[in-house]
Amino acid sequence: MKKYNFNAGPSMLPREVIEATAAACLDFDGNGLSLMEISHRAKYFQPVVDEAVALTKELLDIPEGYEVIFLAGGASTEFCRVPYNFLEKKAAYLNTGVWSKKAMKEAQLFGETVEVASSADTNYNYIPKGFEIPADADYLHITTNNTIYGTEMRHDMDSPVPLIADMSSDIMSRPIDVSKYNLIYAGAQKNISMAGVNILIVKVDALEKVSRNIPTMMNYMTHVKNGSMFNTPPVVPIYCMMQNLRWVKAQGGVQAMDKIARERAEILYGEIDRNKLFRGTAAEEDRSLMNICFVMNDEYKELEADFLNFATECGMVGIKGHRIVGGFRASCYNAQTIEGVNALVACMKEFENKI
Ligand SMILES: *Cc1c(COP(=O)(O)O)cnc(C)c1O
Repeated sequence: MKKYNFNAGPSMLPREVIEATAAACLDFDGNGLSLMEISHRAKYFQPVVDEAVALTKELLDIPEGYEVIFLAGGASTEFCRVPYNFLEKKAAYLNTGVWSKKAMKEAQLFGETVEVASSADTNYNYIPKGFEIPADADYLHITTNNTIYGTEMRHDMDSPVPLIADMSSDIMSRPIDVSKYNLIYAGAQKNISMAGVNILIVKVDALEKVSRNIPTMMNYMTHVKNGSMFNTPPVVPIYCMMQNLRWVKAQGGVQAMDKIARERAEILYGEIDRNKLFRGTAAEEDRSLMNICFVMNDEYKELEADFLNFATECGMVGIKGHRIVGGFRASCYNAQTIEGVNALVACMKEFENKI
């Protein structure tokens, strides 16, 4: 039976990207050697990094003065590298869930950290609005898509101070105005590659403004100056990302990714709102196009386990909600197809008819 992958991360990738990466692991570019057994400095690998950087710049229309770097450690390592590199006196954080809270906790190790607003009062089911941002903050940190709760800021907000954004779960899904940010970072395993690499878009001018000493590997400038080759980079995830960026470009770029994301979300939220068994958990105006969270209405609550079993039998994979929210979560990253979403909707309708 055909499987439909709704995993939240690591998550679905286009089949051709997986095939190209697998092929390079067996024989990289017809050299007779695996991608895994050549030097990252070999003449063979540099073009991969160069192409991944060039495609990122092209797809996101990145202005002059920014560099793209690839680092290991997961997005969680950036929670600490961000204040190391940018927090001189005061940092502002918007608290929209577990990931922003974890980022804020690291900043507290480095200096004054202000929580400008929080949606913790309602288990983070909305994005706070109309909050004040201290004009003397070094930056405002935001999490543009809240993977666990299914809320998203699908725009580049205005801020009196430079923005730093964790875009782990929505990067490359829409056009962004990079000029508003000092830094954008994302772990690759949600929307652009396999696990093992972070992508960062950094405003070079904004670096080296803090007075503290920064350990070499923690210092973004090290990696900017060395083109992500200061030490051995995660070559297979970078290769996979390069293939995926080629795929995004071939589909029509981030504009096309945005369009299909809207189509998928309209179909699935449409069914959640129509079907008497289900309701969405996120405030309507903040609904994520990437992680679509829903639960069973109170009067059908005891059927959640049955629906999960039924959906699993219909080929749905990874739709169990995060334990913090419960219910279901269908992650619809770039590689998710309209066919996949239609299959889930058909399964929801069929289950409704059986009740
Ligand atoms: C998954 C996720 C993270 C954590 O990523 P790791 O690579 O596991 O450290 C951080 N932020 C967001 C928004 C995420 O979705």
